[in-house]
Amino acid sequence: MEFRVLPSGPVTLQNVHIPACFLDQPGDLIRTEISLADGKIAAPQAIAVDMGGAMVFPAFVDMHTHLDKGHIWPRSPNPDGTFMGALTTVGQDRVAHWTAEDVRRRADFALRCAYAHGTRAIRTHLDSVPPQDDITWPAFSDLRAEWTGRIDLQGVCLIGCEKFSTDGEFRHTADLVTEHRGVLGMVTYPVDDLAERLTGFLTMAAERGLDADFHVDETMDPSSETLRAISLAVLETGFAAPVTVGHCCSLSTQDEARAMDTLDLVAKAGLSVVSLPLCNLYLQDRHRGRTPRNRGITLVHEMAARGIPVSFASDNTRDPFYAYGDLDMLEVMRQATRIGHLDHAGHDWPRAFTTHPAAACGFSAPSLAVGSPADLVICKARNWTELFSRPQSDRIVLREGQSIDRTLPDYAELDDLMEPA
Ligand SMILES: [Zn+2]
Repeated sequence: MEFRVLPSGPVTLQNVHIPACFLDQPGDLIRTEISLADGKIAAPQAIAVDMGGAMVFPAFVDMHTHLDKGHIWPRSPNPDGTFMGALTTVGQDRVAHWTAEDVRRRADFALRCAYAHGTRAIRTHLDSVPPQDDITWPAFSDLRAEWTGRIDLQGVCLIGCEKFSTDGEFRHTADLVTEHRGVLGMVTYPVDDLAERLTGFLTMAAERGLDADFHVDETMDPSSETLRAISLAVLETGFAAPVTVGHCCSLSTQDEARAMDTLDLVAKAGLSVVSLPLCNLYLQDRHRGRTPRNRGITLVHEMAARGIPVSFASDNTRDPFYAYGDLDMLEVMRQATRIGHLDHAGHDWPRAFTTHPAAACGFSAPSLAVGSPADLVICKARNWTELFSRPQSDRIVLREGQSIDRTLPDYAELDDLMEPA
């Protein structure tokens, strides 16, 4: 059979390989069959095709992105590849360009990429410093409505922790987040009264019934320990809604015993961690004329050993925080596996791109059980070495059992937005 052509009616896909963790079984890949009918996983069907050993995944969940920043690189490149270069450049671009239409068109472009690559749910952070919050959140809500049925979307407000106060303009932002069914988020870094700010932040989220999602310690500076502060704040306030922490890079440069002690607190506080290794590789330990020594990846194995749910996600795409990327979770899986040595480390890591992010965000759980939606990514690879050696550009993406058009949007579509200010 030609790999890319599947019958559109009920069918049994014979001779496929599925990671055992998706079948609630021990071990690595399981050679099996999977049947589809009426858009759902089904009992065996009369028509069968031999898939030649193809690997099958449930569609992906990308739980940390920045759709509002995406694809501004041509008009606002990072001048030196550093974190500060990114922060400054994005700030200038936001003020100069981020109308509702500009944000909507770039975000829609990014969503079409993600959809074509096999992603079914996305959480995005949204720069929410006033007056941007009033511009972006309604535009995001419109986009979410347009994408219903293709990609489930969640928004998180993004501000620096110095911009947070319980009685200032952030109250309005938090009201917008509530109105648009979002998640309360901010970036944490060491400031004198961080503990107080965190208590206020969690109280505000609890009053509004919101989950929390933080950008945490995105630095190689070992003295940045805001992950510890967040864990303590959650434990002290008894904040009960899900809390996600992203990045947590400085754990990788801290004293080992201190880092492990912090991880014990993270486990106790019940936090979910999302690692963003592609963006970290780009920004962390970058110094002109000096080869980077540190990778910036957080301590994913030590977290997993403590039962902390770890996910991986895309983060930025073609903006000053990361010059590359296409919201392709197979690329994230391939890179995370190499960067974090997920190979030779048990067989549960495929959950970090599917099950764990879905649980952390409250998206529907991926399932290959009979009756579940047939939202699948099928790759012409029979095992991990074949999978990760090629970009899988010829993968099949099924949504409700139907093979979707995987044509990627043309960058030239955005050219008229890219005139420098
Ligand atoms: Zn981010």
